[in-house]
Amino acid sequence: MIHSFEYSNLPLSELSEQDRELVDAARKAVAQAYAPFTRFGVGAAARLTDGSITTSSNFESAIGTLSICAERRLLYGLLDDAIIEGFAVVSTAEEECYPCGVCRQAMVEKEQRQGKPMRVIMAGAKTATVTEKATDLLPFTYTYADTL
Ligand SMILES: [Zn+2]
Repeated sequence: MIHSFEYSNLPLSELSEQDRELVDAARKAVAQAYAPFTRFGVGAAARLTDGSITTSSNFESAIGTLSICAERRLLYGLLDDAIIEGFAVVSTAEEECYPCGVCRQAMVEKEQRQGKPMRVIMAGAKTATVTEKATDLLPFTYTYADTL
């Protein structure tokens, strides 16, 4: 069995106007990152079905486990009836920023709950990789099974 998924990798200038706007919002959020330990700032932006854009950035704590990535900070701040159409991730690095495994799980769970695909745009300084749904980023997603 072969696992495959579709994605695009393109220059930022070839993104749609909406996706560019979302990447720009995520880039502005990077400036709000609190990352005194890693000095790696990350910004995330989500476009909801009502057209609004909400953003977040990573936050680090002296107690490491209290730190949280920009993606989950954004997701957990939303009311659960919010439906995300597009989700952009950007960092302080030149390279494209890909969500960590924990955030991928949270993104897929959100996508499953909302019942609609969440387009993911992972941007760098010059290019972006885009998937049409978060599920593409995490095959064999963990699911809870009540076996007791
Ligand atoms: Zn993460």
